[in-house]
This record gives sequence, C-alpha cells and structure tokens, in this order.
Amino acid sequence: MSICDLCDGQQGKSSRSKPHDQLVKVGEARLYRGVQPRGFEEQDYQCQCCAAKFTQSSNKNDLAWTLWQG
Ligand SMILES: [Zn+2]
Repeated sequence: MSICDLCDGQQGKSSRSKPHDQLVKVGEARLYRGVQPRGFEEQDYQCQCCAAKFTQSSNKNDLAWTLWQG
C-alpha cells in the first residue's frame, strides 16, 4: 500500500487541521449524539491523487485523521 506524500503528511494531524488539497469529501458527515454531552461527528474523505481514504473524527478518543486504505 502506497500513499502520496500529502496523505502521508495528513496522518497524525489534529482534528482542527484542514484536509489537504487532493482530499474530497465522501458522503455526508455522520453525527453522533448522546454518547457524550457534546457528541461528535465523522466525515469521510478520499484522495484524488492516490485514492487513500480518510475519516476525520472530532471524537477526542479517536485519532483525528484515520487512514483506511491506499
Ligand atoms: Zn493521497
């Protein structure tokens, strides 16, 4: 599995960081309510360069940017 340099750099970024230029949203954000007082949301992205898929999560217990595949 190989990912582009942009995706490599995206891993480990904070939840407030923006997706890199080649990442496009896939579907709608998923909202999770009730688990925590403020809930959280997840948004899927896919890279147009290397086709890697990321999920961005605002859940503090998860990685902000999770890479699924390259
Ligand atoms: Zn990429």
